[in-house]
Amino acid sequence: MSQAHRFDVLILGSGAAGLSLALRLPDSLSIALVSKRDLREGSTLYAQGGISAVLDANDSLASHIEDTLDAGADLCDPERVKLVVDHGPASIRWLFDQGVEFTRDDKAVDAGGYHLTREGGHTHRRVVHAADATGREVETTLEGRVRARANIQILERHIAVDLISGRKLDIKVDRCLGAYVLDDASGEVKTLLARFVVVATGGASKVYLYTSNPDVSTGDGIAMAWRAGCRVGNMEFMQFHPTCLYHPQARTFLISEALRGEGGRLLLPNGKRFMWRFDERAELAPRDIVARAIDHEMKRLGAECLYLDISHRPSDFIIEHFPTIHARCLELGIDITRQPIPVVPAAHYTCGGVVTDEMARADLPGLYAIGEVAYTGLHGANRMASNSLLECLVFAAQAAVDIQAHLGVAPIPPDVPSWDASRVNEPDEAVVVSHNWEELRRFMWDYVGIVRTNKRLQRAQRRIDLLHHEIIEYYGNFQVNHDLLELRNLVGVADLIIRSALRRRESRGLHYTMDFPFKDPSQRQPTVLIPDNYRPRLD
Ligand SMILES: Cc1cc2nc3c(=O)[nH]c(=O)nc-3n(C[C@H](O)[C@H](O)[C@H](O)COP(=O)(O)OP(=O)(O)OC[C@H]3O[C@@H](n4cnc5c(N)ncnc54)[C@H](O)[C@@H]3O)c2cc1C
Repeated sequence: MSQAHRFDVLILGSGAAGLSLALRLPDSLSIALVSKRDLREGSTLYAQGGISAVLDANDSLASHIEDTLDAGADLCDPERVKLVVDHGPASIRWLFDQGVEFTRDDKAVDAGGYHLTREGGHTHRRVVHAADATGREVETTLEGRVRARANIQILERHIAVDLISGRKLDIKVDRCLGAYVLDDASGEVKTLLARFVVVATGGASKVYLYTSNPDVSTGDGIAMAWRAGCRVGNMEFMQFHPTCLYHPQARTFLISEALRGEGGRLLLPNGKRFMWRFDERAELAPRDIVARAIDHEMKRLGAECLYLDISHRPSDFIIEHFPTIHARCLELGIDITRQPIPVVPAAHYTCGGVVTDEMARADLPGLYAIGEVAYTGLHGANRMASNSLLECLVFAAQAAVDIQAHLGVAPIPPDVPSWDASRVNEPDEAVVVSHNWEELRRFMWDYVGIVRTNKRLQRAQRRIDLLHHEIIEYYGNFQVNHDLLELRNLVGVADLIIRSALRRRESRGLHYTMDFPFKDPSQRQPTVLIPDNYRPRLD
């Protein structure tokens, strides 16, 4: 029987959300920071555009709130939107204090000397950025700070298997007590116990065949919290980024929305612009409208991709503002200063997730969810560009406040049984995992993608039921490994997406169904799914 490891706070995930929480907690607390690949690997590292916050004297909090509510198609929680927007400027200042360097512009006196860019849905320039590699600057700076803190124990290449809850083990403490975590190197499943547990595991876009997200985005936190008895909300609202690079050798490379913000034009294969036909804001319309327009035109023309052109802007400007995109495209033989970029839409962001309150608390006492894994009410039916990194920062700060407020009362977890692998065998048919992984992502793309119908969703539901059954059986009989754990979570999350999509009998924001093509005011509420083992919080 292996020994349990004990901490004050256990943080699962090391993106913007997990890292900033770890840094906001006092160094008197012992913290475990678990990351299933290298510490820096996650969506945060790849974020290009920037972080939205009201930093310009000509902008206003009211305007940021209004734009967010507008993008969310009447489904945002106005109080949460206000909370996030109000905390925006302070969150950016906190990043400055950590040493994050944003792109400067000496002429931008009203914006404190920072260059602010504009993205879809924003009526002002309010996106602070580090050229076109904002996420890398944020992630690596925070990583450096975390690695320097003696109170934070980092466990890389460790994947959380399941949350440990008193409820499930029939221990009298009705609380999240920790997590079972698989060490990829040794194959050992460790027991990590903590007074507070935080899922910061990112989104679930890997459930789709084409995605802008890195491999880690398999919805683990959503699936684990659901299994532990937490509600999930708004899972039908999966955001597809309109413009990912279309190239056989380029896996998941995003062409930032900022390129359109700086004048990039979307073109059909014949070189003609078309966005005016779909929205008067043309290329600056919110993402869902742009993605659907591209999907529509591609299907109408049978085109493999469309094009995004910024070559009318001066070369120096393009190279200065988009060095990463310029360099990556050039490697593939595309010179964006002279020619258009071939693009397709891809799954990009999970608007729904684990239901949380204003302090980032999930339904199970002792458990918090922060970052893309959470459903906070900020995004409603559609996320506005650059609001997500802000959401990570704000709710990490909220969780830090709440954890500190409850330090005096949170119990030390009791002993729990260690992971029992005595009744399972070595996996004998790895092909089951790889086959089901492919099948799942393909039918989610085909049947639960940008444009949906009842028939397609029902078809997907039948397939997911079968897969669920097969994976649960496999999971029960064989030793766990990284791929199996991710597949189990993806299947669980796909099921939640399909069930939520079937419930929403209207088109709103990111959920578009041909059977109900219009918004229905009577359905202006979030889709909340409740697991069988749910219990309302009493504290
Ligand atoms: C290409 C791209 C560009 C983007 N651009 C922008 C932008 O410009 N502005 C903006 O606001 N947003 C942007 N986004 C969205 C934004 O980057 C994400 O929403 C945000 O970074 C999520 O941060 P996070 O901390 O919640 O998760 P992530 O950064 O994804 O981190 C998740 C962490 O959880 C770990 N993890 C997952 N499962 C487990 C498990 N079972 N056990 C242990 N660890 C686990 C991962 O290893 C990783 O460390 C972009 C996203 C992408 C993919």
